[in-house]
Amino acid sequence: MLPLEALQAKDLPPAQLAGLFADAGESLYLVGGSVRDALMGRDVAEIDFDFATSARPDRIAAILEGWADSVYRIGEAFGTIGAMKDGRSVEITTFRSEIYRDESRKPQVTYSDDIETDLSRRDFTVNAIALELPSFEPVDPYGGLQDLENKVLRTPLDPEISFGDDPLRMLRLFRFQATLGFAADVQAIAAVQRMAGRLSIVSAERIRDEFSKLMLAEAPGAALAMIVATGLSTYFVPELDKLAMAQDPEHRHKDVLAHTLAVVDRTRPDLVLRLAALFHDIGKPDTREFGPGGVTFHHHEVVGARITRERLRALAYPREIVDDVSRLVFLHLRPHTLKLGWTDSAVRRYVRDSGHLLDRLNALVRADVTTANQKKQRQIQEGIDELERRIAVLSEQEELARLRAPIDGHDVMTYTGIGPGPMVGEIMDILLEKRIEEGPYTRKSAFEIVRDWAISKGLDDPGPPADDEEE
Ligand code: ATP
Ligand code: MG
Repeated sequence: MLPLEALQAKDLPPAQLAGLFADAGESLYLVGGSVRDALMGRDVAEIDFDFATSARPDRIAAILEGWADSVYRIGEAFGTIGAMKDGRSVEITTFRSEIYRDESRKPQVTYSDDIETDLSRRDFTVNAIALELPSFEPVDPYGGLQDLENKVLRTPLDPEISFGDDPLRMLRLFRFQATLGFAADVQAIAAVQRMAGRLSIVSAERIRDEFSKLMLAEAPGAALAMIVATGLSTYFVPELDKLAMAQDPEHRHKDVLAHTLAVVDRTRPDLVLRLAALFHDIGKPDTREFGPGGVTFHHHEVVGARITRERLRALAYPREIVDDVSRLVFLHLRPHTLKLGWTDSAVRRYVRDSGHLLDRLNALVRADVTTANQKKQRQIQEGIDELERRIAVLSEQEELARLRAPIDGHDVMTYTGIGPGPMVGEIMDILLEKRIEEGPYTRKSAFEIVRDWAISKGLDDPGPPADDEEE
């Protein structure tokens, strides 16, 4: 008995749309991830629903209009009409036999009249199981149910043909390895090894979306290792190839890549944090030097932050993600440079420099400790525990995240009579610096500092600050 009851609930899109399409004289099948996940016994309440139908896109849209909360046609060139209903996403695609994508032009889609042909063009057999509606009877021409049982990812047709038709499927292979915990079939892996270079014709946006899903799997390390081993990485993150060739004397792993993947698996599935884990040592190969004291990687965090920025931009990640990830790479050594004991001002600086990334930075630094040396391991973790305690104490005392001098630029201009410009910036920096070094102080002492500064600059003496500035 298949665990499909949950999918059949009356208030879910499959049951609702089954009737509408039957009334219109069109066949309708549920396909893709929702079928696969339901068959695996996963929770279906949250998932998106993909359908295949005999109806052409215009008819699909007409049928959906009366039912959906909104209908969108951005996928129409691929035969897909999308819709939202009660907060759930639905995508319905006309049976296809061929899709030819030239990323720079409109795709060429050939429609088909039967579900079997449509399923043959899908990526993997476990994604090529359809449920006929309204009966919910499985249609499984390529042995997907068996592969689901064996937890293996196979293409319905010859993998060379499949990957040639759409090279993104090579990356999807490892994405599903990571998210489903399935094994890639050996023939599929061999095909990736031969055909990896074809990934170059795929748009950065499509690669990015699959890569992000992979990075959010529970433990993406093994799939990432396969991506490097097959050579697929060469065509979208070539920096990882260099990590595989760089020995890492600092950790117990055989190379920097093995250490990196261990760090990725040790972080929680948050995209920014995971990407930072993947890139944190990316500057090592370019900064490696052999000196009398052994191998060094001076400033690898600076070089790494730059490489990270360039790579994530090339992968079309949005600006905030690029900024956040490269900032984390830049800062990932900070806690180590301060092992000798943290002064209050060092803690304030750490909080200020990491800003909204503080939690993730601490998580990254913890995950980065993969040494086999138990004592060293414990020392570093305790160092970060201590740092977090200090931050907690200090922030209670003084709302650290919003560090400001007690007076602002306006106060300075009114008091001294100088106009807006770099002079104001200079004294504001001095006031903020004092705040960071020494903690809170009064408005009156701030004006006294401004007065001394103004006199030292040869400006007119603004006179002693007013008494009511006393707090
Ligand atoms: P998820 O749970 O991540 O949504 P999914 O299997 O539903 O996984 P989608 O990307 O939503 O994946 O695609 C829906 C279905 O469309 C897939 O299950 C597969 O049958 C088919 N599909 C998607 N992308 C491709 C592709 N590039 N090549 C072939 N078939 C694809
Ligand atoms: Mg889906």
